[in-house]
Amino acid sequence: MEAFQWQQARSPGEAAALVTQTMAEAMLTLQNTPIAQQAILVKAGGVDMLDLMKEGLVNPLRLVDISRLAELQGISRGSDGGLRIGALTTLAQIAAHPGLRQSHAALAQAAAMAASPQIRNRATLGGNLLQRPRCWYLRSAAHHCLRKGGGHCFAFTGDNRYHAVFANHGCAIVHPSTPATALLAYHAQVELLHPQGQRRQVSLEDFFVLPEADMHRENILAPGEILTAVWLPPQMQTNRSIYFQVAEREAFDWPLAAVAVVVDLDAAGLCREASIVLGAAAPAPWRARQAEALLTGAIIHGETAEAAGEAALAGATPLAQNAYKLPLLATLVRRAVLAAAALPRDPRP
Ligand SMILES: Cc1cc2nc3c(=O)[nH]c(=O)nc-3n(C[C@H](O)[C@H](O)[C@H](O)COP(=O)(O)OP(=O)(O)OC[C@H]3O[C@@H](n4cnc5c(N)ncnc54)[C@H](O)[C@@H]3O)c2cc1C
Repeated sequence: MEAFQWQQARSPGEAAALVTQTMAEAMLTLQNTPIAQQAILVKAGGVDMLDLMKEGLVNPLRLVDISRLAELQGISRGSDGGLRIGALTTLAQIAAHPGLRQSHAALAQAAAMAASPQIRNRATLGGNLLQRPRCWYLRSAAHHCLRKGGGHCFAFTGDNRYHAVFANHGCAIVHPSTPATALLAYHAQVELLHPQGQRRQVSLEDFFVLPEADMHRENILAPGEILTAVWLPPQMQTNRSIYFQVAEREAFDWPLAAVAVVVDLDAAGLCREASIVLGAAAPAPWRARQAEALLTGAIIHGETAEAAGEAALAGATPLAQNAYKLPLLATLVRRAVLAAAALPRDPRP
């Protein structure tokens, strides 16, 4: 690991300004080289950041530590009944939060299933959404892959057992964030702070980018921008949600396949609205729109849930070693739809 400077930010604005200033200085001395672009890193929990530095993927000149910024911490309820989750809230805090477990159960479940207890106590939601993919070719210093500016995606001809089965043309990474699968199912928004002080909110769906839009990054975070919070819209009392995943090991591992389901059911069991998102399936959390359309206006039972599972696979383009993900995803969708429909009603008044 190369030597670097450490700077403790005292406010999100100062963190954004430090990032911009360091990048400008680096551009002057190093021109627009990859080294200059990586001159600075924001540190939240530091879990992925340290891995990237140890793997030699980034060699920052300066780290800006945002982990002590109080205004980026914690979960609060907005006046509309929605939730604001500060970017520094840990996965463990999300998994244990009583209000969130009731109103946004799939998110609490997804956070509880990510990684290991030690990592969940350290890992922040912001850092989790911004972690780099776990594709072993991307993470290997020996492979100059497309995503790193090379000319070849090694996964297509190499070992692609954990890679994407949707939108995998060009680059076949899967998005590594488990909570993101649930957040997208709730139509969450991210709040971003620009170095000049402006704040913007972007839907998570627009925040993540597919390789066909930009091969070199996974999201639209601008240089110097700080992710300050995630906003969850209020849930109807008739909403039920659930998160399911399958992994090779139950703990300390990323899922092979995952699904988050949010359904709004009327008293007769008719589905007024369905949101179904697949995880570990595509370079960004993947909305199963055909499955959503199939359930909307239907009564949920075994046959409709099974049909939704099959519809969720529409457009899949599995690679040589990962077609096994398709039956996993179809089964997870079927089981999650049935389980969500059978859950007791939200006990909130
Ligand atoms: C063994 C193992 C198993 C794992 N399993 C899972 C799993 O099952 N599911 C899962 O989702 N994850 C898993 N992870 C990944 C882990 O959850 C992430 O590395 C962690 O959440 C990153 O959060 P952090 O706060 O440590 O981010 P950091 O490492 O501090 O930051 C990550 C990136 O985001 C940037 N950044 C961080 N916060 C901000 C911000 N607020 N604004 C702007 N930029 C920011 C940093 O500059 C860096 O580039 C696993 C990790 C390990 C080691």
